[in-house]
Amino acid sequence: MEYYSEQISKLIEELGRLPGIGSKSAQRLAFYLINQPMESVQHLSDTIVNARKNVRYCVECCTLTDREVCPICASAKRDHKTIMVVENPRDLAAYEKTGQYKGVYHVLHGAISPALQIGPNDIKLKELLVRLQKEVDEVIIATNSNLEGEATAALISQLVKPTGIRVSRIANGVPVGGDLEYIDEVTLMRALEGRVEL
Ligand code: ZN
Repeated sequence: MEYYSEQISKLIEELGRLPGIGSKSAQRLAFYLINQPMESVQHLSDTIVNARKNVRYCVECCTLTDREVCPICASAKRDHKTIMVVENPRDLAAYEKTGQYKGVYHVLHGAISPALQIGPNDIKLKELLVRLQKEVDEVIIATNSNLEGEATAALISQLVKPTGIRVSRIANGVPVGGDLEYIDEVTLMRALEGRVEL
């Protein structure tokens, strides 16, 4: 890194901390940014700061939003008695893209993982249980089909069942270990339609 000026090294170092960015990508991004017009770099930097400042968890479903209640939770057109539980906002976006799902969501922001020491209290599970005290017909568990997703699904099912609310799990059409966001819309809809009651 000593080949570069201190400022560039610092920029490369910061960019390299971003998820999925290795040192080569960090260098490429740093040089790209340095070569951009001042205004566009300023715009990017403002966008990052504003997003960080204004984005928060929806008080209902815990997805990321810049309002107190996200547009989905605020919509009268959605079926508020059907809650689909997903791991992250990207999974929510994947289902929203299909335009077919009319219920609402609950975003856990992760999945339990004993290996990574992520327990039930580290995800938005308590918030889901609070929601179930209102009138809810069905909880559809759409966590990923990897080890963590399955463990999370099992726990949620265990917690929801005693309430008498219907619990279902999306079908196995979703490839094992596959992140929901990479799956095409038809597969997603099939997984949702083919969900099985737990
Ligand atoms: Zn919401």
